[in-house]
Amino acid sequence: MRLPRWMFPLHMVATRRASTVPVPVSAFVPACSAANPRSLQRLQEFVSRARRLFVIGGAGVSTESGIPDYRSEGVGLYARTDRRPMQHAEFVRSAKSRQRYWARNFVGWPQFSSHEPNSSHRALQRWEEVGNLHWLVTQNVDALHSKAGHKGVTELHGCAHRVVCLGCGVVSARQELQNRFVALNPDWKAQAGVVAPDGDVFLEDEQVLHFRVPSCEDCGGILKPEVTFFGDTVNKATVQFVHQRLAESDAVLVAGSSLQVYSGYRFLLAASDKKLPIAILNIGPTRADHLVELKVSGRCGEVLPLIQPF
Ligand SMILES: [Zn+2]
Repeated sequence: MRLPRWMFPLHMVATRRASTVPVPVSAFVPACSAANPRSLQRLQEFVSRARRLFVIGGAGVSTESGIPDYRSEGVGLYARTDRRPMQHAEFVRSAKSRQRYWARNFVGWPQFSSHEPNSSHRALQRWEEVGNLHWLVTQNVDALHSKAGHKGVTELHGCAHRVVCLGCGVVSARQELQNRFVALNPDWKAQAGVVAPDGDVFLEDEQVLHFRVPSCEDCGGILKPEVTFFGDTVNKATVQFVHQRLAESDAVLVAGSSLQVYSGYRFLLAASDKKLPIAILNIGPTRADHLVELKVSGRCGEVLPLIQPF
């Protein structure tokens, strides 16, 4: 099956050879009062000064599409549950862990894959089309920027809509694997609760026991979401590519990320080294607060559409 075009961000094209329980979106967005007008004005001035703006976004861009984040106070998955994301080494080492992971991912997929872009994604897509947005880096794996039509985007941690074979490296569509799961597990049923940022849901071990996981059709290798799991590192070529886009930029805006993960934070360190002006739009503190000239507390979905990208 050919992958839909939106699944392949521009830089990849150039370089690459069950039932669910709905949860209200507001459950995933941290409490926050509206950004004050003075902050908005300063953010507008910041964006207007840029000729080539580099934006790095995180979970806060997607929470308003109904995808929870891991870290937000009170509403993030860490705060609400004892679930923790899959570790890379465990996935590679343990067939049982892969079975549990894929069973849960299988159940969460229909809901996870149906999420739609929100006003943040649409605003940034417009910034790219008619404004000064030079490059966008997202730490999310939900493909919502691509679904919104964004072209110049790097998915720093991969994309849950793609599957990679750890044996031969072939990349396929996650939906195609869903069809194979269905064919292999015709009588297997489970309920999904809250779906995590990477499509994970919680299931009891008992439910997982009989779930059958296919391997690569070409080489028999292990199939893994094309997502950087915790404990793994971002592909060097991708990091290099993003550094190049950053070097072409003249200002950096962080949108909806606490930058706790080094893979994203490193670009803020690089921007600071280059003395690029940096602004942050986020609810709550971030790891880069000490590096910025402007910090705006607000929801991305409310603030970004108000800013003119020129
Ligand atoms: Zn393979």
